[in-house]
Amino acid sequence: MPSFSYTAHPARVVFGTGTFDQVRAEAERLGHHRVLVLADPHVGDVADRVEKVLGPLAAARFDGAAMHTPVDVTERALEVLRQAQADCVVAVGGGSTTGLAKALAARTGVDQVILPTTYAGSEVTPVLGETENGVKTTRSSPDILPETVIYDVELSRRLPVPLTVTSAVNAMAHAVEALYSPDANPVVDGMALEAIGRLARGLRRLAADPADLDTRSDLLHGAWLAGMCLGVAGMGLHHKLCHTLGGSFDLPHSPAHTVVLPHVMAYNAAAAPEAMRRIADVLGAADAPTAVFDLIVECGGPTALRRFGMREVDLVRAADLAVATPYPNPAALTHEGILGLLRHAWHGDRPDPAAVDLAAPLSIHRLTEQVVATFTGAADTRLRDLLSDLVRRLHGFAVDNALTQAEWARGVDFLTRTGQISTPTRQEVVLLSDTLGLSSVVDVLTNSRTPDTTPSAVLGPFYVEGPPALAQDTDVSQGLPGIPLYVDVTVTDTDDRPVAGAVVDIWQSNDDGFYDVQLPDLDGPVLRGRFRTDPHGRLRFWSILPSEYPIPTDGPVGQMLAATGRHPYRAPHLHFLISAEGYQQLITQLFVRGGSYIDSDAVFGVKDDLVVDFVPRTGPAPDGRKRDGGWRELRYAFRIAQQSTFSPISPMTTPATALKEAP
Ligand code: NAD
Repeated sequence: MPSFSYTAHPARVVFGTGTFDQVRAEAERLGHHRVLVLADPHVGDVADRVEKVLGPLAAARFDGAAMHTPVDVTERALEVLRQAQADCVVAVGGGSTTGLAKALAARTGVDQVILPTTYAGSEVTPVLGETENGVKTTRSSPDILPETVIYDVELSRRLPVPLTVTSAVNAMAHAVEALYSPDANPVVDGMALEAIGRLARGLRRLAADPADLDTRSDLLHGAWLAGMCLGVAGMGLHHKLCHTLGGSFDLPHSPAHTVVLPHVMAYNAAAAPEAMRRIADVLGAADAPTAVFDLIVECGGPTALRRFGMREVDLVRAADLAVATPYPNPAALTHEGILGLLRHAWHGDRPDPAAVDLAAPLSIHRLTEQVVATFTGAADTRLRDLLSDLVRRLHGFAVDNALTQAEWARGVDFLTRTGQISTPTRQEVVLLSDTLGLSSVVDVLTNSRTPDTTPSAVLGPFYVEGPPALAQDTDVSQGLPGIPLYVDVTVTDTDDRPVAGAVVDIWQSNDDGFYDVQLPDLDGPVLRGRFRTDPHGRLRFWSILPSEYPIPTDGPVGQMLAATGRHPYRAPHLHFLISAEGYQQLITQLFVRGGSYIDSDAVFGVKDDLVVDFVPRTGPAPDGRKRDGGWRELRYAFRIAQQSTFSPISPMTTPATALKEAP
């Protein structure tokens, strides 16, 4: 038979439907006749109804309750309370409004009647968290505990579904942590398991009818019991982490609870097997953490911290804060373990019941930091920062995915072969970067031009330095088969003034989809060249219509595409690299509208503004040349930015010399 102690918190609870009608009677029951009604701006209409029921007792109203109970808001409300000579507060709203009522009670001893509209549970705890100058402090006292709570199922019916889901999981977290708290006892356990069961049942039925009274009754009843658990049992890692995420990283309260809960449960699972077994039983599942995660997914709740704008680099600081001071928790609190937990929560992973025990003492974090420390002496601080972050992410990748020795060896072999197959004309490493979308990411970061300039696109692996200098009107196809293409483009600045003498490198594939550098037998270079714009910024030349083509698939990148079921095709396009003294270099591609693979380009290079008409024509060409059959015409105006209006991070180097060489 277990021995235990249990301290009940003396509060009166009225539970039911339409119970807010009893608010006047409850205030009078406490012996009060001048009431200050508290609310936040989103529940003002409910507060109006409550005020109406209070009738002459309603002495004043304050609608400014805010998240995390800021002290300056409390001081303004205090002034209203004093002016109205109110002897009681009636709070209508979520945990934030309850927090304001508690803050007023802590300062004046005023009695509180709370009408909760969320499932936060604060109304039955003697705890108050307040923020001042960005710092949140928490205190507990019997004076803070509200005297009366009126739970009205009708009021909670209008809580929007997304808020309902996160608020109910927030409540579930109180019950989960109570089960493995050092303060746990049979009374707390009973309330906690009943709370989890009711909350889960309510959540599962919510989508079918969010306004169903039985569903809402289960959720509100569960939230009350969970709040009682929070009031009597000390909380562990989950509440500590959520406090940190809300306080230091400004993450929204109940969504943060929702994302983190399954991962803290997974972290604690091995150290609190009995609590997890009982939770799993109540949920009718084999594994408690995954059951909670699946329930959240089923209800459409949030699962990833990154969705709230939290940066991955901040996880280390969050883990630092979580282990800064000791507190009771079933599993040992290790920095690397908590960092792993946070990484899973950040990515939105489903907890894996068979995964390595994150709470087990590991030395990986120390190892990572040892490696990072070796870069501190780097003279180039940018190099230091890039390498430090790369190492942290590589180690994190290995930990998060429990990378095996065989997988690591396969990756090393892949990268080795990618390097070995590369030559000055076969750039497999660039191709890898292209097919992983990295080249496009860097392109966007480096060349995010003003909306007035032509969008950029990746350079690709087939550019060759120093292409042959050609005169205007040259046919770069040199008689290769294909549909003739007449190109007539201009280069202007952002005010549409022509840029004369601009160096324009062009290159493209042949009709079979090969670049000259891929065909060793070809007497090249062909389908590439370097032109200069005329005094009107204009350039005209002949070529052939580009066709779609596969990127090389006979190397490691091709194997990666095959292994992931991806096709290797690039949408048909013509490359341009435009340079002019005093202007920002433009690397781009023009894509054939209506061409194949426009929507699934293998290197993620297509941008809407670069998809243009290659217009079908018949008859004589503009330069008077006779063309048998049809030909295509490409007209386009490139707009490039002056150097003063756009500073590149890392410009290509080619054209400085090219400017001198071009005819
Ligand atoms: P909240 O009170 O800030 O409400 C969240 C949002 O929901 C707000 O925008 C609110 O206006 C809106 N809302 C509330 N009821 C609504 C309804 N019926 N319909 C439409 N919108 C509605 O947030 P919360 O999650 O209820 O409470 C979180 C706060 O409570 C945090 O500051 C937390 O620290 C505190 N809290 C304290 C304790 C404690 O014991 N001291 C316990 C739990 C929570």
